[in-house]
Amino acid sequence: MSFNSSTYVNFVSAASAAQERLFLQYLGHRSDFDIIIIGSGIGGGVLGDDLAERLGKQKRILVLEAGSFLYPTHVYNVCRFPNASLAKHFGCGTFWQSGNEQSQNYIGEQPQLNFGGRSIFWSGLIPSIQGWELEFFPDRVRQDLQSGLLARAGETMNESRSMGATAQAIVSKLRQSPLAQDFSIQETPRALHQPYLTSEGVPSDQFFTEPTGVFNTAELLINQAGLTPGVNHGDGPGLQLLLNHFVEDVQNADSNRFELVTRNSLTGQIRNFNAGTVVLAGGSIESPKLLRRSSLFPWLPDGVKSLVGRGLTDHPTSNEITTFVTNIGSVPIPKDSHAKIVFYSRGLRDSQNQIRYPFNVEMNINHEYWHLRENDPKERDSGGATSNGNSGASRVDIKFSFGNCLDNTNEVLPAPPFGYVPQVNFRNLKWMDHLAQSRFPAVAGWQKSYDEIWARCTTPPVASACRTGQGMTDPSSRNQLWTRICALSAHSIFMSAICR
Ligand SMILES: Cc1cc2nc3c(=O)[nH]c(=O)nc-3n(C[C@H](O)[C@H](O)[C@H](O)COP(=O)(O)OP(=O)(O)OC[C@H]3O[C@@H](n4cnc5c(N)ncnc54)[C@H](O)[C@@H]3O)c2cc1C
Repeated sequence: MSFNSSTYVNFVSAASAAQERLFLQYLGHRSDFDIIIIGSGIGGGVLGDDLAERLGKQKRILVLEAGSFLYPTHVYNVCRFPNASLAKHFGCGTFWQSGNEQSQNYIGEQPQLNFGGRSIFWSGLIPSIQGWELEFFPDRVRQDLQSGLLARAGETMNESRSMGATAQAIVSKLRQSPLAQDFSIQETPRALHQPYLTSEGVPSDQFFTEPTGVFNTAELLINQAGLTPGVNHGDGPGLQLLLNHFVEDVQNADSNRFELVTRNSLTGQIRNFNAGTVVLAGGSIESPKLLRRSSLFPWLPDGVKSLVGRGLTDHPTSNEITTFVTNIGSVPIPKDSHAKIVFYSRGLRDSQNQIRYPFNVEMNINHEYWHLRENDPKERDSGGATSNGNSGASRVDIKFSFGNCLDNTNEVLPAPPFGYVPQVNFRNLKWMDHLAQSRFPAVAGWQKSYDEIWARCTTPPVASACRTGQGMTDPSSRNQLWTRICALSAHSIFMSAICR
C-alpha cells in the first residue's frame, strides 16, 4: 500500500491556478539539497524562512509539504468565521480513536495538512511559558529557552505586546488587586503581521495604523521564496518549496546523507531527494508516524525508539464564562475598546511545597475586536459573535488554562503493517480522574481528593455549587461538573477581585 489522496479522510489534494500564479514551486531536476525540511507549519516554515535568510546564498534548502495551497494567509484575515470552526472543516483523519468527547481517552482534534500547516488556523496567542512550567522540560531545553530562545521566538512571530491605552489602564488597575500576589498580570502577547505598528501597538509612522493580520507561515514562505536568489530555475542555492509531496520514507544513504522517498499526491509518482540534514517538522502526530514507518527506524538506539510517538500533551482549558461590564473599578471600559489579559501564575508554593495555583487565567475584553475580520464598525451590534447588544456594556470572557507536562501514557501507536492510520491513545483531560490522579500530581505535586481540589479552586460563593457534586459517582457527570466549577471559580475569584 502507498500513500494517495484518499489515504487520509478529508485530505485536500489539488493544484490550484491561484497557487501556480502566486509563487513558484521547485522546478529543478536536481534531487540533492543541503537541508530538507519536512512540513511547512510553524516549525518547518519558521525554520525554512530563517535558514533562507542566513544561508540562502550558499545552501540549497527545500521545504517539502504533503498538503495543498488552501489560503495564502491566515483564515482570520479572509473571513468572519471563527478560526476553530474552520480548522475543523480541514481536519484530516490521520489517526483513529474510539469514543467521543465524553470518553475517558479522546484527543478531540485532528491535524490540518496543507501549506502553512496549522499556522493558517491558529489563534496567534503566544503567552510565555513561566518558570514553574519550564520545570517539566529537559534541562538543556529549559536552559536554552530561558537564555533567549523564547524571546527570539516572540520576535520572529512579530510579537505584539499592547492593545493600547484601555488595556494598559486595566492591567495597571488589576496589578493593585490581591490577585497580583499570586499572578503576574500582563497583556497577552500575540503573533501578528503588523508592519505598520510597533510591538507596543503604536503606529510606526503617522500614515498607517492598521494591524495586517495574524502571523502564519504560508505568507512567510511565499514572501521568502519570492526573495531568495535562484528560485527561477532551482539549480543553485536558495529556498525552494514543493507542495503535494508526501514524504513516505527516510532512509540512511551513503556519505552521511539521507534519502527521502516522496509521493506526489496529485499524480501518484515517486520522487527521491537527498540531503545531509533532514528536519522532521510534520507536527506532533505526523512526525513520529513518519519516523516509525521509515527504513532508518530500526537503526535508531533503543532508548530513542521507545520515545518516538510518546509523551503527547495538550493545554486543557475550562469553558469560558461571559459577563458584561461598563468599568473595572475606576477604569471605564468603552464598548469600542479591547484588551486581552493573561494572569500568569507565579507558581508560588504552599507550606507543603505544592504549587498553589497550577494554572493561568485568560481575560478577554470585547475579544473579537482586535481581528481584522471584525473591522466593520457597522456590524458591531448585529448580533454576531462580536455583539455586545445595545446595553452599552463591554463583553468580558474569563477562562482557566492549565499548566501541563508530557504524559508518557499518551502515545501514537505503530500503524498496522503497510498502513498510515494508527490508533492514538490520549487521556481526555476534561476527565476529572485524569486531572486529579495524573496531571495535578505531576504539575503541582498535588495528592488531593476531588473535594480538596474543588476547595482550592473555588471560593465560598461557589462552594455550595461544588458540594452538590459530592455524591455524584457517574464519571461523565463529574466530568461536566469540573468544567462548570472552573468557570464558576474563575468568575468568582476574578470578578470579586476586579470589581473592587
Ligand atoms: C484552531 C487552532 C487554534 C490554535 N491556537 C493556538 C494559539 O493561540 N497559540 C498556540 O501557541 N498554538 C495554537 N494552536 C496550536 C498550533 O497551531 C500548533 O501547535 C502549531 O501550529 C503546530 O505547528 P507544527 O509545525 O508543529 O505542525 P503543523 O502546523 O501541523 O505543520 C506540519 C506540516 O507538515 C506537513 N506534513 C505532515 N506530514 C508530512 C509528510 N509525511 N510529508 C510532508 N509533509 C508533511 C503537514 O501537512 C503540515 O503542513 C492552535 C491550533 C488550532 C488548530
